[in-house]
Amino acid sequence: MAKTPEQLWKTPADEALRWVRGTDLSALDQAATPGWRGSRAEGEELMAVRGHELADLQERLFAHGRTGGDRSVLLVLQGLDTSGKGGIVQHVVGMVDPQGVMHRGFGVPTEEEREHGYLWRIRNALPVPGYVGVFDRSHHEQVLVVRVNRLEPVKTWRRHYRELNEFEAEVAASGTAIVKVALVVSADEQKKRLAKRLDRPDKHWKYNPNDIDVRLKLPEYVAAYQEMLDRTSTKEAPWYVVPADRKWYSRLAVTELLTGALRSLDLGWPPASFDVAAEKARLAAT
Ligand code: AMP
Ligand code: MG
Repeated sequence: MAKTPEQLWKTPADEALRWVRGTDLSALDQAATPGWRGSRAEGEELMAVRGHELADLQERLFAHGRTGGDRSVLLVLQGLDTSGKGGIVQHVVGMVDPQGVMHRGFGVPTEEEREHGYLWRIRNALPVPGYVGVFDRSHHEQVLVVRVNRLEPVKTWRRHYRELNEFEAEVAASGTAIVKVALVVSADEQKKRLAKRLDRPDKHWKYNPNDIDVRLKLPEYVAAYQEMLDRTSTKEAPWYVVPADRKWYSRLAVTELLTGALRSLDLGWPPASFDVAAEKARLAAT
């Protein structure tokens, strides 16, 4: 008989990956598989099983939204280029009905976006009730790229930590369960993935010469991530730090985190707003 999830996870993903303030990010093993004691094949098998549960839970959430409910889920994905954010969207979020997903990627702000405060485009992209929102990069870039590339004075971006926390507390209070995932890829693995993008004509569209500039600033990014994790992991919006050198693991882990968030909403199926027996009788009479 196949092993149960409880046997395969020595420590559940949400416990094993939840950021503990003060942990040394630079000492993280990006190839590790925290909490997991199964094989890769068992991981892929469990991910498929969870996918069915995820799809069922997402449909409940959608039904809840359609019948006046106010809950939603927001999955925030942060991580450097090649950390696998797109793969998470495709392989994890891709297991649910796309009609119930609101996906948004955040790049360099457009001219219109720059005319507003940095939270403007974020607020506009928040999931409405019943939906699973996915942010590929997010408001946290305000303390990452903005800090590393000195796009704002120190005094300005330093204020953002508190603003980010206040904003997320407000979003959570309005009914959105927030799951923040930082995907952490090693410098070596990133180099391999970028080399692959350069070698394959079908991957050139994904390559950005700016990715090399980011690599040259890796220590500064690690410092920025360290402080972001320490200062913006809150009860309402905790960070989960997911080692990303093994894609099968990071995808499995995010599947568990997302499934857990949906499960925690504890939604049943909404009751019929009509008389079921009467409708059956009406149908039979046609
Ligand atoms: P990609 O995710 O590969 O499409 O790249 C998006 C780019 O947009 C990355 O280089 C991010 O650092 C950049 N970016 C995202 N948000 C911001 C922001 N608020 N300010 C400046 N650059 C940003
Ligand atoms: Mg990129």
